[in-house]
Order: sequence, then structure tokens, then C-alpha cells
Amino acid sequence: MAGIKMPHAIDRNGIKWAADDYAKGMGAEPLHCERCDSTVSHVASFTRDYYDLPSRVRAFFRLQAGGEHGPSCRFGVDRQIVELASTSEGLIESVQKNRYRMRLVAVKDALQKSATRSKDDGVEERTPSASKHYTPNSGRLTAYINTAQRVLKLRALCDEDHDIEQHLELVFERNTTVAWNQFYFDHARQMAAHYTVSHCTNQYPIAIQGRVGKITRAIKDDPTRNVLNLQKLKASANPNEATDGISLEVSVWAAKANWFDGVNEGDEVVVFGLWKAPAPTQTKSTKEGYFKTYTNRRLNLTLAVKSQITKV
Ligand SMILES: [Zn+2]
Repeated sequence: MAGIKMPHAIDRNGIKWAADDYAKGMGAEPLHCERCDSTVSHVASFTRDYYDLPSRVRAFFRLQAGGEHGPSCRFGVDRQIVELASTSEGLIESVQKNRYRMRLVAVKDALQKSATRSKDDGVEERTPSASKHYTPNSGRLTAYINTAQRVLKLRALCDEDHDIEQHLELVFERNTTVAWNQFYFDHARQMAAHYTVSHCTNQYPIAIQGRVGKITRAIKDDPTRNVLNLQKLKASANPNEATDGISLEVSVWAAKANWFDGVNEGDEVVVFGLWKAPAPTQTKSTKEGYFKTYTNRRLNLTLAVKSQITKV
């Protein structure tokens, strides 16, 4: 099945139902897509508790297993990808009918050209300095990032990787295929993103979804040092040492404070680009609690263009 989560569905009597208000049996089933005849089923709202404060995932309708949207239905992933490909400046290529590929190496090249490094990385990993020199208005990079972000928004609207994976393949250098679960990491899989970044010798751009935490502008009065931290997931126990909690801090750096404009605490965002995983630090717990020590893992990204961070 290849479909986007749908907020509405129509029952056999033609009555339109909102997923938020629906419960099984309320309408004359089976229900169908509001834009085509495909049969859909209801997924009730559920609670996600990755964070200290749990959040609610809204209810939605999805295609029944094995179902397909009509050829021109806007809830079909295939149609969305065809549209995306046509405006992608060649980033997304057609492989065969209804199958496309996105070239991650092109994105990486454009990102690396854009960010002229002002000093050696790794000198001060704790607060990496954002690059001060930019190729002014790199049109191609912006187009690539915008395309990738539209693909990621489409993925965020889907229920599973498979919905998009069957239509859009990801390729890196020498046409190596990158699995979608090694490219897109939602809230629950941020630690998996850390694993991928720390173990991957030839880094390709990846996307991390999360919830915006604190934004700090002009650190130590330096207008080029601005950072946005994602809210931390709950710490998990170190499998080798039960009283050691493993935490992850995801930080996005920007040379311009206004690149974080329009993004607020609590917003859901996808951040896409080349990440770094500096060596973890150890700290003692400052509060009474189960964990006595913490292993603090980190993921850092320095924005080359503002659109690498987008709300979903
Ligand atoms: Zn449909």
C-alpha cells in the first residue's frame, strides 16, 4: 500500500467522517477515500511517550492492506512523487514507471561546496562555530534542499517507510542504495540516527525528526553562534551499566540568528543535512533518581541554508 494518512473518509451512505471524531462502527463501513474509491480503515489516536511529557498522535485513516489509490488521487504517494520529480532540478530521476530515485550524493556535494570551513572541525566540538563564509545564494543547493524537504514532508505524512520506499529509492555514491530507515529517523529513532552517523565512514545526508526545545541566539554575544536544541528523549539505561543513563542531545547550529525565525519551542521539525557525532561525555547525575551517571551522546549539524530545518 502506498498512501498518505488521510484526515477524512466517506462511508457507504456518503457521509464524510473526520478521523478525530471517528470510532469503529460509527459509519456505514467499509469507508472509502474522499478522493477515490479505495477502501480505508481507521487508526485511533494514540499516545507517544518518548519524551518526559507524553504527546498525542492524531487519529487518521489509511489504505487497507493491498489497496491502491486511484491513478489521479492526491493521497497516492506515486502521484506526489511524480509531481516532486518534475520540479526537482534533476535531483529525482525516473527509473521506470512509478519508480524514482533521489541522488543523495548531489545533495552532499552541494552542501559541502556551500560551507567553506573557517577552521578545523573537532577543535572545539562542544560548541562548533558556524561557518562564517558562504557562497552567496547557492541556487542549486537551495533547490536540492527544498526538494529533499518536500520528500521528507511526504514521508512524515505516510504511516511507514514502505509507503514511500516502493516508489522512491535513495542512492548514494556508486549507486549504493540507502534504505529509508537509514535516511529518515523519526522521534523514536533519534538514537538510531546517532548510531548511523557514528558508524558511517562515508557520511550521506540524513533527516532527523524531533520537537524543538531551546533556541539560544548570539552565544557569548557572538551573532554567528546560534543554536537550536531538540527536546531530549528520555534517557535509556546503558546495557553494560544499569545505573548509567544514555542521553542524546541533538543540536542545530546557524550562523544567522534569523534562520531560526518562525520556529518555536514545541514545533515538530525535520532537520536534514550532514550530521556529526562528537565523542560522548560522562557526567554525574545532579538529581536524585535511578541513574547515577549519564553518558551524553550528541549529534550536531551546521546549517548551510535555512531550509534545512522545516516544520512538519
Ligand atoms: Zn484516494
